[in-house]
Amino acid sequence: MDFCSRCGMATERAIPPGDDRERDVCSACAQVHYANPKVVVGCLVEEDGALLLCRRAIEPAVGLWTPPAGYLELGESTADGAARETREEAGAEVEVGPPHTLLDVPHIGQCYALFHARLAQGARVSPGVESQEARFFALSDLPFGEIAFPVLHFALELYAADALSGIQRMHTGVVRGRAPLRAAERFDPRHYELARHRAFELTH
Ligand code: ZN
Repeated sequence: MDFCSRCGMATERAIPPGDDRERDVCSACAQVHYANPKVVVGCLVEEDGALLLCRRAIEPAVGLWTPPAGYLELGESTADGAARETREEAGAEVEVGPPHTLLDVPHIGQCYALFHARLAQGARVSPGVESQEARFFALSDLPFGEIAFPVLHFALELYAADALSGIQRMHTGVVRGRAPLRAAERFDPRHYELARHRAFELTH
């Protein structure tokens, strides 16, 4: 049972007036508690043909690699959130550029926005408490067998392919599981597909 964050009484599942789906509604004060997807923001920091990745020090997917990324905070722009996550996880100040990937992950209620970025003048990388390690990988040598989440695997594949082609693109798409997943498969990209992928060439 859930409880109302406003008055503390129990909530129940009900369709509020004018709505089209069930929500958690307070049985006492009628407050509707909306549950909406979370936005994950991060930076694809490139320097001399290499990409910055962090080895996660926290669950889930501890020990696996990810671009610096995390949940957007209230009151924050997506680009500012991506820069903050990079500061927290890789210790580095960055200049945030255009988006590279906007990928939806509806089965876990997340939307990823990963931005092109560069290290700020004089910035250095030093892993934060959420990272075991933070370092640059050559784009031809990204650790594809050890990427933390399937959505990141797709994003990095697209990034590496763009670098190879020399064309800067922005990508959108939806990450879906191919079939009902067992627990051991839930971070394995082979069990996912990137649906409705579209690529937009960025012009300068
Ligand atoms: Zn209430």
